[in-house]
Amino acid sequence: MYCTKCGTRNDDTALTCVQCGNALRPPVFGTPASPPPPQTPQAPIAQAYTQPPPVGQPFIGGPPIPNYLVQAILVTIFCCLPLGIVSIIYAAQVNSKLAVGDVAGAMASSRSAKLWAWISLGAGLFWAVGIGLIGGLGMIANIAKYAHH
Ligand SMILES: [Zn+2]
Repeated sequence: MYCTKCGTRNDDTALTCVQCGNALRPPVFGTPASPPPPQTPQAPIAQAYTQPPPVGQPFIGGPPIPNYLVQAILVTIFCCLPLGIVSIIYAAQVNSKLAVGDVAGAMASSRSAKLWAWISLGAGLFWAVGIGLIGGLGMIANIAKYAHH
């Protein structure tokens, strides 16, 4: 290589010019920065096992609100007339409130209709059991009476 200052030819490995002492190559401060090692790619294991959330059935029409009208009529006929009528009134309110868009009121009436239907059913069963007990006791009494004869 040639000296950039005086043009004297120097050995390629020479650090300074033999003629003028000019530095032939810039001082090397350490090794040049090597590029950083490539980042090991993080395997997206978590993402591989992350299934997309299940898409629910499309919500169409809102939740159905039973009016329990059939149950109310049945318990009215077979169990308890006054309590069953209360259930029928609430059951009728379900449809009328739904007709005007009162969903909350319709649900409340639905719950009341179901509640009074169960109350009526329970009262009817209680009444039927009482009738049955009285009748059964009477039958037993009659059997006992006839058995003595
Ligand atoms: Zn030189």
